[in-house]
Formats: sequence, C-alpha cells, structure tokens
Amino acid sequence: MVMNDHAEPAEIGAGQLTIIATPIGNLDDLSLRAQRAISTATLILVEDRRHAQRLFQHLGVQPKTLALHEHNERALAPQIAQRIAAGEDIALLSDAGMPLISDPGFPLLALLREQQLPVTIIPGPNAALAALALSGLPSDRFSFEGFLPAKGGARRARLQALQLEPRSMIFYEAPHRIVETLADMAELWGADREAALCRELTKMYEECLRDSLGGLVALLQAHPDKVRGEMTLVVAGAPEQTQEATDADQLLSPLLAELPLAQAVRIAANQSGMAHRFLYTRALALTSAQGPA
Ligand code: SAM
Repeated sequence: MVMNDHAEPAEIGAGQLTIIATPIGNLDDLSLRAQRAISTATLILVEDRRHAQRLFQHLGVQPKTLALHEHNERALAPQIAQRIAAGEDIALLSDAGMPLISDPGFPLLALLREQQLPVTIIPGPNAALAALALSGLPSDRFSFEGFLPAKGGARRARLQALQLEPRSMIFYEAPHRIVETLADMAELWGADREAALCRELTKMYEECLRDSLGGLVALLQAHPDKVRGEMTLVVAGAPEQTQEATDADQLLSPLLAELPLAQAVRIAANQSGMAHRFLYTRALALTSAQGPA
C-alpha cells in the first residue's frame, strides 16, 4: 500500500473547501502548501479584500476573491456550498492566522458538515497557540476564551464565571481595553495570579511580558508605549482548590439551591464557623459558575 504523507484533494476536480491559515505578522510564515493552494483555488473567500491584497502581492498572484465576513457569511454560505458541490476548489482565508478562530467561517463549515461536503485544512499561524507556547504557563490543558465582552458589566460577569477555571486561559484583547481588563482580573482573581501579555507576535516589536496580573497593570501604567499593537493575554488557571474551599462549597451548594445568596452565606457561617467574607466569595463563584437559572 502506498502511504500518502500529505493530504491532497481525493480526486482531481472534486470540489472542496480548503481552510488556509495565514501569517499573524511575518509573511515568511506562510507555508509552501498554503502558497500552492492560494495559487490554484478557483475562488478565495477573504475577510477583507484590501487586507488580502497585501498577501497576494507578496506571492505575485491575482486570484478571484469573494468577501466573506460576519455580516454576510450566513447569507453567502448556501451559494458557496453549491459551488463546492458543483466541483469548485474554494479556499477560505481570514485577515490573519487561522480562519474560524475569532474569525468568520463557522456558518459555512456548519452547512458543509450538514451537506457532507469535503473540507480540508492547511494549518499554520495562530496567535492564541503562539502566545500560550511563549507564555511559560502550563500548556498541558488550556481554555481559549477569545474576546471578552466589551462592556464592563458583562466582562466582569464572564470573569467571575471563570474564577475557578483551573486551566490556563487565553484571551484576545484590544489595546484600549487591556489595562481595564487586567485590573478587573487582578481584582476578581487576585493580583498575584501569573499571566503573560504577548504583543506583536512574529513582528519587529514582538514581546512577551511575563508577570502577575497586578504586575502587568503596574507595568502598562508606567509604560504606555507598551499598550499598543495586537495582543494576546494568557492567564494561569486558578490554584488547586483548598480543603477549606471544598468544605465551603459542599455546605453552600444545597443552601444556594433553595435560598438567596446572603441568607445561604449567613446560615453556612453560623453552622461552620468559617469567615463570612470567605463564604461570600465562594458563594459568588459558585453562582456565577452555574450561570443564570
Ligand atoms: N484568527 C486569528 C488567529 O488565528 O490568531 C485571530 C483573529 S482575531 C480577530 C485578532 C486578535 O488576535 C487580535 O485582536 C489579537 O488579540 C490577536 N492577534 C492577532 N495577531 C496577533 C499578533 N501578531 N500578536 C499578538 N496577538 C495577535
């Protein structure tokens, strides 16, 4: 039997979608397979035509493109699926990195899955995994959280729900929100929780600031020049739960199922002798981890 060590279309002329990862800064990170697929696709779905042009100029190609973005991807998916079913080789790119990861593509992929149409991938750069690998934080298990909600209240609610998450967490964040986000995390998760802020990965001013959440807030406040560029934040997971926290949760859980939070905390404090403030923090974490009823 001949082993194929690289995936190619099953049959010449068989239609398929190829998801292609593109550089997150340094154009030399575009793989040879990606270059070949971009030159041979009959149509390239791009997030933004002008942005894609930079890559195409670098490669010296002028492919046919169609803009696929969050505002039209649902409407366009059926006609793209039809073209694939009719035998076209269509490629999907986003502005940077891996399509579908905080980028367009999901409605199309869901439809191709439903219609059992072929899809293949040319993997490559991705800011989340690059930052995790660089961070020096545990990488054996992690949680990709993408962008947090932009509004303060919703963002804090999401952070509260993540308070007990034991895995390293990866966030995309905009420079104008990063200090506020780090300050919220420091307040809710503890200023000494370890983190890494990775900026401008693969570009000229790449840097990875490894410090505690509180340390990063102080560093960015002292160096506004670092509050710039594209950034990915990695935060260590919550430390292993102490026996006291486990006991508190066991006591609180049934009470919270029946009673308002303040009353549940008061009863738990009376029964156990544990500090009211500690029980209150546990109760908040338990209720936000469960989400709205
Ligand atoms: N699909 C992309 C990927 O695979 O990385 C992510 C797209 S998302 C719309 C863009 C966000 O990714 C940026 O706001 C930033 O948080 C992060 N990002 C992209 N390029 C980066 C870079 N060179 N360095 C650090 N973070 C980056």
